[in-house]
Amino acid sequence: MEPDCTVPGYPDIFVVGDLMSLDHLPGVAEVAMQSGVHCARTIGRRLKDNRVPRPFVYRDLGTMAAISRFRAVAKVGPLKVGGLIGWLLWLVVHVTFLTGFKNRFGALARWVVSFVGRGRYERALTGRWIAGNDPSAEPV
Ligand SMILES: Cc1cc2nc3c(=O)[nH]c(=O)nc-3n(C[C@H](O)[C@H](O)[C@H](O)COP(=O)(O)OP(=O)(O)OC[C@H]3O[C@@H](n4cnc5c(N)ncnc54)[C@H](O)[C@@H]3O)c2cc1C
Repeated sequence: MEPDCTVPGYPDIFVVGDLMSLDHLPGVAEVAMQSGVHCARTIGRRLKDNRVPRPFVYRDLGTMAAISRFRAVAKVGPLKVGGLIGWLLWLVVHVTFLTGFKNRFGALARWVVSFVGRGRYERALTGRWIAGNDPSAEPV
């Protein structure tokens, strides 16, 4: 793909997020959000008759991952946080970046069910679940 997130030979087709393959960028939410913004801004500039392509430049704002119930790891620049504080940070960042009240409320409600209960549907995928052999089985 082209550095401006378009398909070679098709400048009006953009590929962003998990589907894009550019500069070995990881398939994470931050790349998806930034490439989406880049695409929107490019379209906005084109509507103002500026068709000069600008390459997508990813700004690494840090990395976060939930690793278990109430535990997450986060690395923002030199700062590394883990455990419950990391999880609270993970929660705040993820809710903040969701768009609109409905999405935020829906995500929080699902997370309450997932984290307070024992259901693991939104936290782990295993081969057994995908094969559908025993959907009620605990992940191995
Ligand atoms: C289990 C798991 C944990 C993750 N944890 C993290 C994490 O901790 N931190 C992090 O940064 N990233 C994490 N990721 C990665 C992150 O979720 C993705 O990088 C991000 O969601 C990609 O965004 P996207 O918009 O490209 O794709 P998606 O978020 O997958 O959005 C694509 C949307 O398109 C819809 N769609 C698909 N086909 C069609 C169609 N034909 N017509 C209409 N709509 C369609 C889908 O339903 C979906 O809503 C995780 C991913 C998974 C699976």
